[in-house]
Amino acid sequence: MTRFHQSGAELFVPDGAPPDEALRRTTHMAVGAHPDDIEIMGYHGILQCFGSDEKWLLAVVVTDGAGSPRDLLYADYTDAQMQAVRREEQKKAALVGEYGAVALLNYPSSAVKDPSQTSVAQEIEELLLAARPTCVYTHNLADKHDTHAAAALRTLQALRELPAEARPQAVYGCEVWRDLDWMLDPDKVALDVAAHENLAASLLGIFDSQICGGKRYDLATLGRRRAHATYHESHGTDVTTALIYAMDLTPLVRDPGLDIGAYVAEHIARFREEVSARLAKLL
Ligand SMILES: [Zn+2]
Repeated sequence: MTRFHQSGAELFVPDGAPPDEALRRTTHMAVGAHPDDIEIMGYHGILQCFGSDEKWLLAVVVTDGAGSPRDLLYADYTDAQMQAVRREEQKKAALVGEYGAVALLNYPSSAVKDPSQTSVAQEIEELLLAARPTCVYTHNLADKHDTHAAAALRTLQALRELPAEARPQAVYGCEVWRDLDWMLDPDKVALDVAAHENLAASLLGIFDSQICGGKRYDLATLGRRRAHATYHESHGTDVTTALIYAMDLTPLVRDPGLDIGAYVAEHIARFREEVSARLAKLL
């Protein structure tokens, strides 16, 4: 098994499989900045693998989860105590969601955001080589949280270093701090996540330290998925009850020469053109 770069990093394997085997059996991999991000944005991957002996999710949480706001039960917790709570919550989610493994890389947020620190991308690349997933989920590049966007960039940088035969078939940038409803329909990857709604609620509810004090990420996330399902098609009845939208990042991995910023800007330009064209037609 690959060596972790940061002290305090760990691999948690819910079913107790040996670490090498837990990584090797991976089919789906999700890379999130914080504990709870994967349950919000990567639920499609969790669902694909839930209850399956052939498909396994490797969840990779890049940061140590320090510096999160705290209230009520957690108001007097130190940073270290808060990190410990969030780590335990992530492990509980891995158990409930039957993940193949969860890797807690334990980087400070500042290291993920610093482009000169190549260690984060290197470590993600090592995990990709050990796990060889066919499908990868990470944050979308239009997310408004710096650490989220940075985690997505480090993941892309890692993916671009892989030899062609080790590249996943699909790479999706998914929704946490900014949804992707604004993208044009042909640009959207609409991931159907209606199955096991109870499991979705259970997984989101585990992160009590984040929800406590009034941030109802659990209700908001389920509400966003439901809203997407209804507002996806203006004609016809709903075909599902929950959708997650993703930006397809696969072209950026297939062609490592593609400019990442320009790729995202093209999506925004198509959105701007569509809105302007409609107004011009109707005015
Ligand atoms: Zn986050």
